[in-house]
Amino acid sequence: AKAAGRNTMRFYDPLMQAAVHRRATLELDMRIGLEQGQFELFYQPQKDRDRIIGCEALLRWHHPQGGFISPAAFIPLAEETGLILPLGEWVLRAACTQLACWAQDPEFAHLSIAVNVSPRQFHEPGFVDHVLAALAGAGADASRLELELTEGLLLQDIEDTIRKMVQLKGYGVGFSLDDFGTGYSSLAYLKRLPLDQLKIDQSFVRDVLTDPNDAAIARTIVGLGISLGLRVIAEGVETEAQRAFLERHHCHAWQGYLLSRPLPVAEFEALVRAG
Ligand code: C2E
Ligand code: CA
Ligand code: CA
Ligand code: CA
Repeated sequence: AKAAGRNTMRFYDPLMQAAVHRRATLELDMRIGLEQGQFELFYQPQKDRDRIIGCEALLRWHHPQGGFISPAAFIPLAEETGLILPLGEWVLRAACTQLACWAQDPEFAHLSIAVNVSPRQFHEPGFVDHVLAALAGAGADASRLELELTEGLLLQDIEDTIRKMVQLKGYGVGFSLDDFGTGYSSLAYLKRLPLDQLKIDQSFVRDVLTDPNDAAIARTIVGLGISLGLRVIAEGVETEAQRAFLERHHCHAWQGYLLSRPLPVAEFEALVRAG
């Protein structure tokens, strides 16, 4: 009776109804957007000491009424509704198509693309096949594709996670652990996962010069990565001083507004060409 009461309340709460309506509208709009090609990948360059080595693909939605909508506003709902599955497949196909295109051009053939993978997408049974189909469909080199996993994904079925990673690694696909240090991953998991790279979350980078704790965390993540034979990349680098700090502490690579915001592909290519 208690549960029914709660349901009734929810149904008659006008505010709640408005929220449900908004969600339903957003979900429908996302489906239409996917059919009508309203999604686009932007590319944020990643640099090592000397040059741009690749990029992170970040999803952008050009909503016909709402203008541009941030992924932070629609990825969570896409996860909940399951729409992340077709959306995630679209992202994989788009990234692989871009890789195959760059492979034809000596100026861009060295570039890798990092693709964000959400937990629900990763844990669906067909995930490995979807990645392989995207690579094969585009004719892209698996070793130029990197998948960014978050710690949240490790909360579910760690054996399934390891099995899928090992399978994809067998084809040359790389793996980064995104937002490292903000989630729940234990060092025991870290040891077992066939990772290639740790990504220092931007929340630690932001105050790395002013907050001794953040500086200690950033240094520790780099040290941990190096000890485990992993590369370490920092995200959210906005100042030269932050970049210099990270380089001084042997962080391998970085990305952030200091170099560039995420860019449409033509602008990204122009930046790579400019060196
Ligand atoms: P994320 O993976 O942690 O991506 C980094 C976010 O930080 C991006 O926000 C990026 O634009 C932003 N950023 C980059 N450099 C800087 C900087 O120097 N300073 C600051 N303050 N921010 C910076 P964005 O593009 O809005 O993406 C937000 C989140 O949406 C991403 O966080 C990721 O979790 C998710 N996302 C984006 N694209 C995809 C996708 O294709 N699939 C999935 N599953 N998630 C995605
Ligand atoms: Ca990411
Ligand atoms: Ca991140
Ligand atoms: Ca983040």
